[in-house]
Amino acid sequence: MRIETTAVRAARGEPTDGWLRSDSGSNERGIPHVPGIDLSTTYGFHRSSSVAESMDALLEGAHDAPNPVYARLHNPTVARFEDALAQLEGADAAVAFASGMAATTALLISASGEAASRRPHVVAVRPVYGGTDHLLSTGMLGTQVSWVDADRVGDAIRPDTGLVFIETPANPTLELVDIEAVGRQARAGGARVGASIPVVVDSTFATPILQNPIALGADLVLHSATKFLGGHGDVMGGVIACSEEWAVRLRQVRMVTGGLLHPLGGYLLHRGLQTLPVRVREQQAHAIELAERLSSHEAVRSVHFPGYGEGDSELVARQMRGPGSVLSFRVKGGVSAAAAVVEGLRLITPAVSLGSVDTLIQAPALLTHRVVEADDRADAGVSDDLLRLSVGLENVEDLWADLEQALARAWASAA
Ligand SMILES: *Cc1c(COP(=O)(O)O)cnc(C)c1O
Repeated sequence: MRIETTAVRAARGEPTDGWLRSDSGSNERGIPHVPGIDLSTTYGFHRSSSVAESMDALLEGAHDAPNPVYARLHNPTVARFEDALAQLEGADAAVAFASGMAATTALLISASGEAASRRPHVVAVRPVYGGTDHLLSTGMLGTQVSWVDADRVGDAIRPDTGLVFIETPANPTLELVDIEAVGRQARAGGARVGASIPVVVDSTFATPILQNPIALGADLVLHSATKFLGGHGDVMGGVIACSEEWAVRLRQVRMVTGGLLHPLGGYLLHRGLQTLPVRVREQQAHAIELAERLSSHEAVRSVHFPGYGEGDSELVARQMRGPGSVLSFRVKGGVSAAAAVVEGLRLITPAVSLGSVDTLIQAPALLTHRVVEADDRADAGVSDDLLRLSVGLENVEDLWADLEQALARAWASAA
């Protein structure tokens, strides 16, 4: 199945051998066109011995069991979203969480290993999402982080390294990291210290429609499902696609730490996947147009968009199927001019978050990356006057008219 078909059809409980052939004749029973939402927190059982078997399987991190037992161990609605997402990423499995940060937390706990052989060191490349930067930098989960340039990942690996963390395209500068090159470095660095070092890619900005990191040599792919996967700004979630072996560990951590995706969220995210290819491509077409127009506007200092950076276009062609629909830009006149642009908009919503059907704008230094130290922010290229624009499905001429009038007014008052 091609990606559009998988997006619409995956994990919906439909017969895989054709509707007519799987019909059981006289026992005709309707198969719901839309899978149900299972909100049950607990599940009754007939025999103690068989429910105990299910319990054992789930405690060992199994994908499912005949009896889900308790909603912190398994939920069928959430599992459907996980199965569909895994198929879209070309992964064996996926594990969903309450938010992108809950997913990252579970991954850091899993990767740092057991008490006897702790590997709390993480090698990471800036910039990453502000919350991720904060979680890694504060060490609140016992993490020790080395922030390095992408070409120094291999050198930074130590015997106690448990994970390499990259984000591409990166929030909010849209900088790209070469996933294959980082994978090669992680394998070389791992060989040097005698361990296999997993690489995770936060692929939130790309979605599975534009980039599949596992095919490029990454071990795990992380998404803030709150963004494009949901796509309508009404559900929070996070998900990690990976091998079944990693999924077992992540399910075990989720079970004991409880960062669960609610079944209603699982339902909405599964539904969101159906329109993901269409939304991503249409929003991307709008973003390409706006990035071009912004680049030639007199009030704009620079535009950041995959393909616009030095040597970027070769990498976009190699690891992505398009630049996506988030861009950032700097206006002439600094922070006050940037604030004037945001405040002058009439249609585009000033708000954090991204990937929704409506267009959102915000200044990362002020909001999403506020938790990152000012010096670290500046080093990572997140200047105070940078604006991040997540382009939606509105008519692109309406979006441009709004940006243009706000830029013109900010430019006039700055001049
Ligand atoms: C928003 C975001 C996160 C965090 O996800 P939440 O769902 O808000 O917890 C992580 N990574 C990236 C790239 C993000 O944009």
